[in-house]
Amino acid sequence: MSPELEHLVTLQSLDSSITDARARILLHPQRLADADARLTASQETVAAAKQRLKANHEARGALEKDAAVFQGRVTKFKDQLAAVKTNREFTAMQHEIETAQKALEVAEEKVIERMVEGDAIAADVKLAEAALARERKEVEAEKATLAEELVTLEAALAKASDARATLVTGLEPGLVKLVEQVARKRGVAICHATRDGLCSVCHVRLRPQVFQLVRANDAIIQCDTCNRILYYVPPPPPVEPPATHGTP
Ligand SMILES: [Zn+2]
Repeated sequence: MSPELEHLVTLQSLDSSITDARARILLHPQRLADADARLTASQETVAAAKQRLKANHEARGALEKDAAVFQGRVTKFKDQLAAVKTNREFTAMQHEIETAQKALEVAEEKVIERMVEGDAIAADVKLAEAALARERKEVEAEKATLAEELVTLEAALAKASDARATLVTGLEPGLVKLVEQVARKRGVAICHATRDGLCSVCHVRLRPQVFQLVRANDAIIQCDTCNRILYYVPPPPPVEPPATHGTP
């Protein structure tokens, strides 16, 4: 391969590294925000479960007050029962007691329902808190990894940018301009031709004369279709089959 073409292949590799590092650096804030959003979602799950537990306790408290009122009535009517004078009063008072007793039983049942429900919600709160603790650890670890990645990416970007600057000073300005022109339009400006004569990026078949020139690897040849600068990677030499030791 001509040194010029070799430099262009290196240039493309550096440009791809630079593009890749920049794209990943740009994603960094979003990845941090995604991690934070996961943590916020876990915090909200805990808060919602705690809110449900609070509502449950309040409802249970109100029912317990109701039950105390009905219990008070039952006790009061029972006390009054001893003081009644007539059968009619007795029957009426018994009816009052029965009514208050029923209301008391209903309220007590509801208190028990709320207690059962409260146990389930308390279990939910514990689970949500455990999940939050796990998420918090994971997010912390992820942020530490992301911070390390960012440092690595920025270093890689700086290194590739320096290498590119050095490489470009040794290249003919017109050629650099051409590469940058194609890169602006196409992203990748330099690519190989496949062994069956296709441009490896746009996949259009090269004209036989063009392919022949590309195979020579000693001139700047562009794809007729996408304008990318082409080079050729010859197939590796055939591997000798390992010598077999004589089995007759
Ligand atoms: Zn092409």
